[in-house]
Amino acid sequence: MKSRFLFALASAALFAADLAQEGVRWWSHVEVLADDKMEGRNTGSEGHRKAAQYVAGEFERGGLRPAGTSGYIQPLKFNVKQLDEPASSLAIVRNGKVTPLVLGDDASFSVRADLAPSVDAPAVFIGHGLVIPEKGIDDFAGLDLKGKIAVYLNGGLSSIPSALKSHYSSAGERWKALQKAGAIGIASIANPRSMDIPWERARLARLNPTMSAADETLSETRGEQFAITVNPAQAERLFAASGHTFAEMLKLADSDQPLPRFPLNFNFRARTKIDRTQVESQNVAGVRPGSDPALKDEYVIFSAHLDHLGIGEPINGDRIYNGAMDDASGVASLIEMAILMKEQNLHLKRSVLFLAVTGEEKGEQGSLYFAHHPTVPKKGIIADINMDMFLPLFPLKYLEVQGLDESTLGDDIRAVCKPAGVEVQADKEPDRNRFIRSDQYSFIKEGVPALAFKFGWIRGTPEEKIFQDWIKNRYHAPSDDLWQPVDKTAAAEFNRILLALGERVANAQDRPRWKPDSFFRRFAQTE
Ligand SMILES: [Zn+2]
Repeated sequence: MKSRFLFALASAALFAADLAQEGVRWWSHVEVLADDKMEGRNTGSEGHRKAAQYVAGEFERGGLRPAGTSGYIQPLKFNVKQLDEPASSLAIVRNGKVTPLVLGDDASFSVRADLAPSVDAPAVFIGHGLVIPEKGIDDFAGLDLKGKIAVYLNGGLSSIPSALKSHYSSAGERWKALQKAGAIGIASIANPRSMDIPWERARLARLNPTMSAADETLSETRGEQFAITVNPAQAERLFAASGHTFAEMLKLADSDQPLPRFPLNFNFRARTKIDRTQVESQNVAGVRPGSDPALKDEYVIFSAHLDHLGIGEPINGDRIYNGAMDDASGVASLIEMAILMKEQNLHLKRSVLFLAVTGEEKGEQGSLYFAHHPTVPKKGIIADINMDMFLPLFPLKYLEVQGLDESTLGDDIRAVCKPAGVEVQADKEPDRNRFIRSDQYSFIKEGVPALAFKFGWIRGTPEEKIFQDWIKNRYHAPSDDLWQPVDKTAAAEFNRILLALGERVANAQDRPRWKPDSFFRRFAQTE
């Protein structure tokens, strides 16, 4: 394993970094943020507030200027909703016969939607439920969805480019299309082949409070009166009167065949009781000002999310969801990069904004809020480099980059990885929608080119196994804590590469641009 590492900086100075030592320092921030005392940093919690204070202090130590609305802090309010499950119910009604579904076992309500107290509506299977004009795909064609509940299997044909599929699979876009077609709700079924969290663990999270920005204009699922996720192991019963089986749908999906669409010939009947409160949480922002008079009003954002899941259902006797990799690791990298820039007396032409956001686990709420209420001029934001759970679990030989082929930032990351001997990989599991599943997407939707990252691996290697085991066993579990094996030196190497990326982008003559054929280019305000 490399412990010393050579980097060429734009200043042409070549220097050796002691990565082992930097890795230990990076980990020391993770140790603070993922300590049991922070209680899992749930959005709006006291633990999160303490963590935000720590980050503000470290930003100050790193020489950053406060860029919140109250020092380094940008406070924001959230509406909190929690399902009163004993007072709620769900059933299938077919020919007057009512078959109750067991909440948590058969299906769970998605409280983030706009659930109506009572719903009784017919169910229609809409395949993958995608409408993608660019590809001539319309899974609603020929179906009457007015007043109905759309049931769909997550995923989509492999011929659809992943960025496009990710975008149209997002909760907001999907709902926009369904609402236009007259649907009143959704029931999603995960394909067991691409489920991040096994149902047994996902069911534990269903009673956690959900939060959405109190600024209702940011809500993407307004009018969604019914929303459930169905346990794929129990999904067969939904198809019993349809002339099809769920097994048949999975088989078609897994062999990349188009799915049929048809009425399911039953009504979903739901009653829900929701308890509502409000909390305040914090984004944390600091700026390292640019040195070029003409470019210093432009900002490269480094972002990571500070919040995690808080205290929840115990697994193996542990109730604290520490979120060491998700995403104390990314926030530690933010801090580390600010400190490295100060130590190296690095003055870049453009300004660099370090942003730790809240509410990611509640649906990227903190970044969404910041993107709509930025503390720097909005048109000055030129890039978002987001670090969320980059998973330094083994040496950094491959870096998987989400959004790699969408903008010139992909060329930039290739350029800085090459001299470091790190091979760049495109997203290997596009069905998991990672490009739109973290905070970078809040900026992409405002036209800002962005990238996100994972440590890469090659299929069939021990590294793949380590990665897959981590997702299966530790992702969103209390065992994502300080007692897991982490390659700290590799994390330091990652920090150096991202710093080099930030340096390259902040010093470039031109701001990053979407590629001409990128789907996401449509969001750009000026081109
Ligand atoms: Zn997470």
